[in-house]
Amino acid sequence: MNFTYQSLPGTIYFGAGQLNNLADIIRRTGGNRLFVIAEARNAEVVATIRAEFGDENVCQFSDVVQHVPRTVVDAALAVAQAFRPDLLVAIGGGSAIGLAKGIALATKWPILAIPTTYAGSEMTNVYGISADGQKVVGRDDAVLPKAVIYDPSLTATMPVSLAATSAMNAMAHLIEAVYAHNINPVTYAVALLGIRKLREGMEQLIAEKSLVGANEKIQFGAYLAGKSLCEVAMSLHHKAAHVLGGSFGLEHAALHTALLPYVLDFQLPALSPELVGDLNTTLDTRHSAQKLRDLADAMGAKTNLADIGFQAGDSPKAADLILRTPFNNPRLISRDHLIGLLQQAHDGRLSD
Ligand code: NAD
Repeated sequence: MNFTYQSLPGTIYFGAGQLNNLADIIRRTGGNRLFVIAEARNAEVVATIRAEFGDENVCQFSDVVQHVPRTVVDAALAVAQAFRPDLLVAIGGGSAIGLAKGIALATKWPILAIPTTYAGSEMTNVYGISADGQKVVGRDDAVLPKAVIYDPSLTATMPVSLAATSAMNAMAHLIEAVYAHNINPVTYAVALLGIRKLREGMEQLIAEKSLVGANEKIQFGAYLAGKSLCEVAMSLHHKAAHVLGGSFGLEHAALHTALLPYVLDFQLPALSPELVGDLNTTLDTRHSAQKLRDLADAMGAKTNLADIGFQAGDSPKAADLILRTPFNNPRLISRDHLIGLLQQAHDGRLSD
């Protein structure tokens, strides 16, 4: 065995009741004067923080916008710089956490992330900021949250429709981790465990038609997904999702859901029989791409690009944007291949 593995720092507080220790966790993370990024939905948590730290030590910013527009980062940065916090507290989905990352990139202030979806941004040193119809993605350890609180009470409030696509977003991180060009045995094992937890959680959600029982399992899988996303390189699926989300304004989690089965279907012929076997065993199926689409479908999610607003005529432009900068991928991909794949995803066609 011969490998390189880098585990990034960060403290994880996982489980029901962790939010009861919020003030304590904030102090342990070094926070006394707090810039809190949270939409109105999380007013109760923000009220707890205000009660503990005093109004004068808490500044809330609520204007969270998906795909983190540069204009919103600049507006938040101006308010934050005037307030001079010692900790950024981001409560919300990937968009709230992404905004905190945009501020941390400029200021190096530490982040405490409290995710309310399964997107996984809280575990990564990756940031994405959109401007002029494009999303610029980069890596910088300054944006990696110093601590993360996963309390299932916050994800349990997602409507099933959002939980379904958000769980598929997490699944996409894990699928692309196992076939990453720089995979190592540690991340591989973690990613397979994450896939198993997500699959079991999704099956429970489908059987019970409710997130209540399934939530903690899916949230644990989502934590492992964010961890895997950060430890190895992502491939075609993530490249395509960033381009389609940033340039065509498609909803992030819905897009991951509607794209993933077709990208995996495309990659399968280039994967080793052992890897395909591991995916099939973990997903409890003989056709992993089909299984992903069946799970998404049974959760009520949309499973093709046409249904989430992507126009077939945009495929060549999207292909050009995706191929504009090089990326690693298990299967070689030409422009024609990619246009064909986008067409298949648009129509909802898997190979036989
Ligand atoms: P989001 O944060 O935009 O949230 C989606 C919607 O769900 C919003 O309307 C939000 O208000 C709502 N919402 C959030 N939590 C909820 C809850 N508990 N109950 C009810 N509604 C809730 O979407 P997302 O999918 O969490 O994150 C997407 C963003 O995160 C994208 O910009 C994506 O690029 C980014 N992202 C970044 C990374 C990274 O490593 N940098 C990883 C994953 C995602």
